[in-house]
Amino acid sequence: MAEKRKYKKRYCKYCESKVDFMDYKDVGALRFSLSERYKIMPRRLTGNCKRHQDMISAVIKRARAAALAPYTVTRKAVVTAPFENLR
Ligand SMILES: [Zn+2]
Repeated sequence: MAEKRKYKKRYCKYCESKVDFMDYKDVGALRFSLSERYKIMPRRLTGNCKRHQDMISAVIKRARAAALAPYTVTRKAVVTAPFENLR
């Protein structure tokens, strides 16, 4: 394998914490399934089950429509974001 795998263990984080309902206003919980460019992470990388992936995709789309999560991120925003935590 030339490239190191980023996600080794495949299990559904939401099943583990027994999530039955997701709130679109709780953006912090959605960040598990969003990439750094705010794209919805595919199930093959996160290991989410079908049920929770359907839930998370619906919730993320709802949050985008409510302007709580961005649809797109500019290149500048992606570069500067990781350094905000260090300050
Ligand atoms: Zn699940």
